[in-house]
Amino acid sequence: MNLVFLGPPGAGKGTIASEAKNYFGIPHISTGDLFRSHIKGHTDLGKQVKVILAAGDLVPDSITIEMVKQRFLESDAQNGFILDGFPRTIAQADALSEMKALDAVVNFVLDRDQIVKRLSGRRVCKSTGKTYHIHYNPPKVEGIDDETGEPLIQREDDKPEAILNRLSVYEEQTEPLIAYYREKGLLVDIDASPAPEKVFAALIKTVQK
Ligand code: ADP
Ligand code: ADP
Repeated sequence: MNLVFLGPPGAGKGTIASEAKNYFGIPHISTGDLFRSHIKGHTDLGKQVKVILAAGDLVPDSITIEMVKQRFLESDAQNGFILDGFPRTIAQADALSEMKALDAVVNFVLDRDQIVKRLSGRRVCKSTGKTYHIHYNPPKVEGIDDETGEPLIQREDDKPEAILNRLSVYEEQTEPLIAYYREKGLLVDIDASPAPEKVFAALIKTVQK
């Protein structure tokens, strides 16, 4: 199953992908996670993109496309994948179509109010990337990761100024992909507003059709 998760930042793509990857037995490939692990590892790529991510801008297409190309060479990606956060521009979508045929593009639909609430309450464990929400999915002990006991952090780009920038970047650069994939007959809309279990159940139902 070759899937793309499309939708605004904070719509719950990563949360649902981490369930769906086990269900389908395919890797969850998040370009945001890949960039963050380069930043954490202080690689050359990490140094190049650090400021871009903090501001909520997009990494140039050429860099992003090359990173995804390399990721697709790994053995776990040969029998399917969930791409989360890629493509984000028409140029990336065109490049992807040269690399892989897709089964579906799942469009997570959520209104702006909810997007802002989800992003501003998101907290993550820096070492594992596990995601929480201060109200919707709190850890057992406030501010502490359930598994590692480490303190949770707020992503730099989940702070108010970066959130607003990311939303306008999404509207300008990524939203046009909805029409792009609808025209190709690949788009399925999913209501991302209910609780994660419900969104997940709707995903399974939609994708297995
Ligand atoms: P994305 O990958 O689309 O940016 P995330 O999966 O990181 O989004 O979710 C954004 C925030 O919203 C996180 O704090 C997450 O815990 C929370 N969240 C995700 N899905 C839901 C949901 N269905 N209902 C309420 N909160 C959610
Ligand atoms: P979100 O919570 O918005 O889904 P991600 O973790 O997907 O965040 O992405 C974090 C950041 O990584 C983006 O704001 C952008 O700077 C960079 N990024 C991720 N994917 C891409 C992409 N496909 N093209 C360009 N930049 C990207």
